[in-house]
Amino acid sequence: MPSIYLDHAATTPIVESSLIAMTNQLAALGNPSSLHTHGRATRKTLEDARELIAKEAGCLPSEVIFTASGTEANNIALKGLYWAGRDNGKHLVVISSIEHHAILDPAHWLATHEQAEVIEIPVNSDGIINLDFLKELVAARGSEIAVISVMHANNETGVLQPINEVVAIAGEIPVHSDAVQSFKKTPLSFSQLGVIAMSISAHKIGGPLGIGALILKRAVEIPSLLHGGGQEREIRSGTLNAPGIVGFATAATSSHYNAVAVEGLRDRFISAVQSLIPDAVINGLASTRLPGIVNITFPGTQSDTLLLLMDAQRISCSTGSACSAGVHEASHVLLAMGHSEITAQSSLRFSFGATSTANDCDFVVSVLPDVIARGRAANLK
Ligand code: PLP
Repeated sequence: MPSIYLDHAATTPIVESSLIAMTNQLAALGNPSSLHTHGRATRKTLEDARELIAKEAGCLPSEVIFTASGTEANNIALKGLYWAGRDNGKHLVVISSIEHHAILDPAHWLATHEQAEVIEIPVNSDGIINLDFLKELVAARGSEIAVISVMHANNETGVLQPINEVVAIAGEIPVHSDAVQSFKKTPLSFSQLGVIAMSISAHKIGGPLGIGALILKRAVEIPSLLHGGGQEREIRSGTLNAPGIVGFATAATSSHYNAVAVEGLRDRFISAVQSLIPDAVINGLASTRLPGIVNITFPGTQSDTLLLLMDAQRISCSTGSACSAGVHEASHVLLAMGHSEITAQSSLRFSFGATSTANDCDFVVSVLPDVIARGRAANLK
């Protein structure tokens, strides 16, 4: 039985060139902060990598702040921009209701521990944020808003958000965007987006785990979460992860990801699902979605059961939502889009990547009717 991986939005295989570059760098000696020859050699390699990543992200090299993950980049941006704003009497944190937990949780932490007021921008049934809500909020309380954070693309549905419009509405208010899912999957440029901060992560694009970046406009100063050696504009202290950074840059400049091919496979899958399971519901606006992601509700089933039935066929996919004590919660993203707890808990995310094939797609399609029938039968018991 083939083993099929359709969970590329969770993490995707490391590209061979990235693995090689990273492992070579692991053997290199020298702390990039050291002034001797070894240190300077590592610094040079690292700055070359920073330049490559900056070019891919549409920003200046000096705007790249390396972190250990997308989660860390999000935390630094949201908390840092909030604290900077609070110093000027602003206490509102505005996020979309469909953010990843790496924004949702720090926002609610700020409310619990740092006197922030958090307001969530609702989304419509297509999964797109309500710009009129934001306009009215900014008109009424703009002077109180420390930061607005809206993700570039949602990790559960793949739906892209109108960030340019958010920036236009925000005016002088700092806007951060979590672009962890969209970097290298769809055209994306920090400077063209107009945001003040943006998060990216290597392991979503064929780079290694444990390395990400916060892109932060040059003139912006924010308090840091980590204090120490003063690396990365004193915003993120800690000896830089040179092997991870080199692996990140190699993946970011590699041409292994073919968006048209990935999208073709995803759409082939969607067509087959729609003809085999006519009551399946595809979640999110089809015209503005990342190439590789599809989230599907299968009425009358339970996501956890489907996941296990899929796994028994050696197919890895996802419910897309958080897991708490081994039980999947109903997805806050699907609930925000108008799903009930029941239909939100009947949904699966399939995410395709650079290594996905037509055979993968066709095998999943071949077992799907039986998996859904069994899932429905189990749900009736
Ligand atoms: N933001 C989004 C939209 C994500 O999908 C993820 C990972 O799933 C993260 C942030 C967290 O990134 P990392 O795994 O690098 O911490």
